[in-house]
Amino acid sequence: MVTRDDLLQELGLLPQWRQRSHTGLGAADAVPRAAVAAAVAATVAVPSPPAERGEAPVRLDVTAANDARRHRIAALEWPAFAPDVDACTACKLCKTRRRSVPGVGDAHAEWLFVGEGPGAEEDAKGEPFVGQAGRLLDNMLAALGLARGEGVYIANVVKCRPPGNRTPEPLEVDACLPYLDRQIALIRPKLIVALGKSAATALLQDDATIASLRGRVHRYRDVPLVVTYHPAYLLRNLADKAKAWEDLVLARRTMAQSRPPQLPDVQPDM
Ligand code: URA
Ligand code: SF4
Repeated sequence: MVTRDDLLQELGLLPQWRQRSHTGLGAADAVPRAAVAAAVAATVAVPSPPAERGEAPVRLDVTAANDARRHRIAALEWPAFAPDVDACTACKLCKTRRRSVPGVGDAHAEWLFVGEGPGAEEDAKGEPFVGQAGRLLDNMLAALGLARGEGVYIANVVKCRPPGNRTPEPLEVDACLPYLDRQIALIRPKLIVALGKSAATALLQDDATIASLRGRVHRYRDVPLVVTYHPAYLLRNLADKAKAWEDLVLARRTMAQSRPPQLPDVQPDM
């Protein structure tokens, strides 16, 4: 089967694609028009060499297929969500996963914690943060007076395990982000905690370090977002646990200050 990756590789579109997805929709249009035009002229089933490609019939427009997929995911309701992730083959992580790991928790949790991607134990169980890092995350939740499944949802940037627990690649993150987007739209959390660099980079579209992003409140769409270290990192760097605690205090304070949407003012003389 020809995968999207193979196709983009074949088309020489990988760098442009990455650039397009990381610059946001508006800015994207400047450079990649030519790339998109090339994609429109491409044939999936028989990727012919460039010299022969000429006037080949259009069998699949990758851009249109990708847009259709994004729209479909953006309309998923909870019952269809996990099965959809489980059937997903949009990036090469599907080839090596044992189980997909869509996420776990309250459908309308106030708190959303976002990690990087499943590890070995998560891949075996189909649930996020069930290994050693998960035990630390549970302790972090307990420190906030929270517990898994009680007003908390836990998700990852990529839903399938990167082999050897490597960092997910930009194309994998791009392919999977529509799912996290949909989860956020369905949950409508009051606060997002980005655990580690992959989550922070993906959600903020900012490649800055955790050290420089932590300590202030960001926004993802209109949801307040706090950045902290990944629990797996904290297990290796105990000295930064104190900073993670400060981040949790900031998260708790931000949550306490978060107000439901303002109602119109009541007329004073009524
Ligand atoms: N690390 C993550 O980022 N997510 C998990 O689910 C487990 C470990
Ligand atoms: Fe699909 Fe995400 Fe799994 Fe890739 S990581 S196959 S995009 S669910």
